[in-house]
Amino acid sequence: MATGFVWHERYMWHDTGNYAGPLPAIFPLQPGQHAENPETKRRIRNLLEVTGVLEQLVPIAPRPATDEEILRVHTPEYLKKLEEMNANPRGGDAGGMTPFGPGSLDIARLSAGGVIAATDAVIDGVVSNAYALVRPPGHHAMPDTGMGFCMLSNAAIAGRHALAVRGLDRIAFVDWDVHHGNGTEAAFWTEPRALTISIHQDRCFPPTTGGIDARGEGPGFGTNINIPLPPGSGVGAYEATFDRVVIPALRAFKPDLIFVPSGFDAGAHDPLGRMMMHSEGYRSLTRKLMAAAEELCGGRLVMCHEGGYNAPTVPFYALAVIETLGGINSRTEDPFMPLFEHMGGQELQPHQEDVIARCAALLEALPA
Ligand code: ZN
Repeated sequence: MATGFVWHERYMWHDTGNYAGPLPAIFPLQPGQHAENPETKRRIRNLLEVTGVLEQLVPIAPRPATDEEILRVHTPEYLKKLEEMNANPRGGDAGGMTPFGPGSLDIARLSAGGVIAATDAVIDGVVSNAYALVRPPGHHAMPDTGMGFCMLSNAAIAGRHALAVRGLDRIAFVDWDVHHGNGTEAAFWTEPRALTISIHQDRCFPPTTGGIDARGEGPGFGTNINIPLPPGSGVGAYEATFDRVVIPALRAFKPDLIFVPSGFDAGAHDPLGRMMMHSEGYRSLTRKLMAAAEELCGGRLVMCHEGGYNAPTVPFYALAVIETLGGINSRTEDPFMPLFEHMGGQELQPHQEDVIARCAALLEALPA
């Protein structure tokens, strides 16, 4: 069975405005482009097309997420604030470093709804797995505010839909974006039916969250696992993290579906991260996740796009992941591999292993 692919041109029309990287271009910052702009995502879709991969994927049409779906994660007050800004042709600010352009809520609804559509297609068996190339991203959005370029918590909203509407008993999130998936964590903080795992660069963004000690609360205690890898971690550290923590946690939790908030900002050369992942590394992690999904939940895997800010390199990471999901070999060589694969520190380092060992000890608290 094939791999589903969610895309909509309107995702590219979310306007993040006149910025300098992640900050508003206020003097003395020279005006320029926001870090989260359409280019990396458009290039992913373009690379899929020119390599012949796109035509081998099953298109899944996104639809806008409804109020009911959004309110399973976000507060009515926050949604009202977004609606008010949406009616303003000049846009606004969704909070926590999240620019809001003209009509951005309409696009954010289509982004969250795209992940829901991918989830439905996988649960219905229309496709065996799916990649939702959505924008704006979602994993930092909190129940009551936007954060980190994210307006609606896309993966969490789709997860709530899977539990509430589709009747799944347990879901898991494996967030490999370089930044902490704090919004997804918050959405399921006390929820025992959702395992939220975030592998991120230690205190990168948000700089105050994502610690090993944040494990969920009440009935949700033990089902939140943060893996804050040291800056400079390479493919060896990520492989070990998956082998020793992520995959064993999935095996212990036994989800019915695995979501992957998929940012590619852990890639070498990313301007907002300091890690060294490369396309073959992402291919390997995808294989591990697919094997776990096959073993645990009939292969059900839904990936949704998050960050990734280096336009030339990011599309090759996505290509490797999507080829692997679909069992496709386009015979495309990543031109950046010779630069990245021999970088110093690609191998697992002792100080990284220490963090991974501490995280592996968290598995004991997982519910049987
Ligand atoms: Zn990120």
